[in-house]
Amino acid sequence: MADFLSPAERSARMARIRSNDTLPEVTLRRALHRLGLRYVLHKRGLPGKPDLVFPKHRTVVFVHGCFWHRHKGCKVASSPKSNSQFWTDKFDRNVARDGRVQDELQAQGWRVFVVWECELQSKARTNLRAETLAADIRRVRRT
Ligand SMILES: [Zn+2]
Repeated sequence: MADFLSPAERSARMARIRSNDTLPEVTLRRALHRLGLRYVLHKRGLPGKPDLVFPKHRTVVFVHGCFWHRHKGCKVASSPKSNSQFWTDKFDRNVARDGRVQDELQAQGWRVFVVWECELQSKARTNLRAETLAADIRRVRRT
């Protein structure tokens, strides 16, 4: 298939996708911990394998790469020019899967938050994002 990434770029990107311990994510986790939130990593048995699970708050958090998960309006979520039908189909499947996973989790009583990779581009931004996320997680749900 035609490709817009060099093999080196591709393998670097794939490695990042596979790794659950990218540096921005670790920084986010540390900040949340500092803010007093206790989480479980990669808890088994939950739809979509959320990155962070906060059992006490019945909340899960996904850290999504903007490219693969199609962050709306984000410049990282550009579409490759070549083989565009292939990519459109692939992205549509990813987005549909994300939606399904969120529905399943919510049906099980979980609140779902998404943190985008582009929100973690510096340590300062990551710490800020951790603060708003912590506030969201602590907000008492009214159902
Ligand atoms: Zn983004």
